Amino acid sequence: MTKDYLKDASLATKVINIGIDSDPAHGAVMPPIYLSTNYSFEGFGKKRTYDYARSGNPTRDVIAEVIAELEGGAGSVMTASGLAALDLLWQDLPGKKRVIAPHDCYGGTQRLLNARHRQGLIDLTYVDQNDEAAVRNALAQPTALLLLETPSNPLMRLVDLDKLIAQGHAAGAKVAVDNTFLSPALQNPIAFGADFVVHSTTKYINGHSDVIGGALVCTTPEDVTTYRWWGNCLGSTAPAFDNYMTLRGVRTLFVRIRQQQASAQAVAEWLEQHPAVAAVHYPGLPSHPQHDLARRQQKGFGAMMSFELKGGLDAVKAVLDRVDLFSLAESLGGIESLIVHPASMTHAAMSPEAQATAGITPGLLRLSIGLEDPVDLIAALDRALTHT
Ligand SMILES: *Cc1c(COP(=O)(O)O)cnc(C)c1O
Repeated sequence: MTKDYLKDASLATKVINIGIDSDPAHGAVMPPIYLSTNYSFEGFGKKRTYDYARSGNPTRDVIAEVIAELEGGAGSVMTASGLAALDLLWQDLPGKKRVIAPHDCYGGTQRLLNARHRQGLIDLTYVDQNDEAAVRNALAQPTALLLLETPSNPLMRLVDLDKLIAQGHAAGAKVAVDNTFLSPALQNPIAFGADFVVHSTTKYINGHSDVIGGALVCTTPEDVTTYRWWGNCLGSTAPAFDNYMTLRGVRTLFVRIRQQQASAQAVAEWLEQHPAVAAVHYPGLPSHPQHDLARRQQKGFGAMMSFELKGGLDAVKAVLDRVDLFSLAESLGGIESLIVHPASMTHAAMSPEAQATAGITPGLLRLSIGLEDPVDLIAALDRALTHT
C-alpha cells in the first residue's frame, strides 16, 4: 500500500504521510475512522476487503501499517493492550514451547508468563540476559522463543541485541524484542535480526496517556498471517476508536521523542551532580556502564531514567510528599512528566528478595520525562530534593 515516493523516505516522513489523503470516498486528508462492526457483502459470495471488525478494520490497518513501516516489519497486529500483543506470541510456538525471558522484564509480562506457565501452555526460564553463562545454559535446552527487553525497567540496563539475537537463532529459537521503552524512533530490533517486535502502544507510540493498546510486529508475511489469525481467534484486536487515537498520537512521535530525550539528558546531568543523589541510571550519561552499547544500538538515549537517593526510603517519602509538576503515577512515555517509586508501585508485586536481586532498592525513583520546559522540570526536582 505504501506509495512509491515513500519508499526511500525517512521514518520521520513515513510516520506522517502513511494513510494521508487516501480516502477514495471524499478525499479526506486525514484517514477517517470506521466504527462499523460489520461490512456488507456486494452480493452472494462477494465479500469486500472487510466483513467483521474483530478480524479487520480499515482504521486499524492504517496504524498497523505505520508501526510495521517504522519497525521495518512485514506487518503488525494491533491489539487491545501491550500484554495482549505479548500473549499472541506464545500461541503458535512449535514443539516444547519453551520461552526464555529476562529476569527483570516488565511486571505484567512476568505475571502473564507465569500464568501461561501454570496453565501448561509454555515452559519458562528467566535469566539475567547480561550473564553470558546463564544465557548459554538456558539456550542449551530446546527453546522456542527468546524474549528480550532493552533498556530494562527501572534500572535502564541494556542487552546487546546483535549478540543475543544471533545466540537465540543459533539455538533454533525465534527472538522477540519488547521495544516499548525506546519506541521505533530510537531502536529498530528487526535491523538486528529480531523475528518479532512488541510494543505497548500505550506508551510512546500513542504518547498522550489516553489509550491502552499494543502491537505485534512480524518480520515475515507468514507470521503476519499467523498472528492476525490468532488476534481474530482470541478476540485480542484493538477497538477502532483506540486505533484512531493511536494513529493521531504516533504522527508526532519523532518530534516528541527528540524533545523528551533532550530534556531527559539535561535532567540526568543535573541529578548526577546533586548532593542528595547517590546514582543516576540513564544510558545518555557517560557514567552508565553500557553508554557505548547504547550509542551503538540505539538512535538516542530515550526519556526514561531512574535515580537512587542517598537518604533511602525516608528521603523518597520527603521527595514524593513535596514534588510538584511531576505526577506520582505509573506508566510512561506520555507528554506529561511522571515520577514513580518502583519498590512500592510498579514493582510492588515482586518479593523483597526479588526486588533486591533486580537492584530495585527502597531509595530508587523512576522518571518519565515529558514535554514540559526542562528548566521547569529541573526547578521542580530542585524544590523536591531540597532538605533530603
Ligand atoms: C506497559 C508495558 C507493557 C504492557 O503494556 P500494556 O499496554 O500496559 O498492556 C509491556 N512491556 C513494557 C516494557 C511496558 O512498559
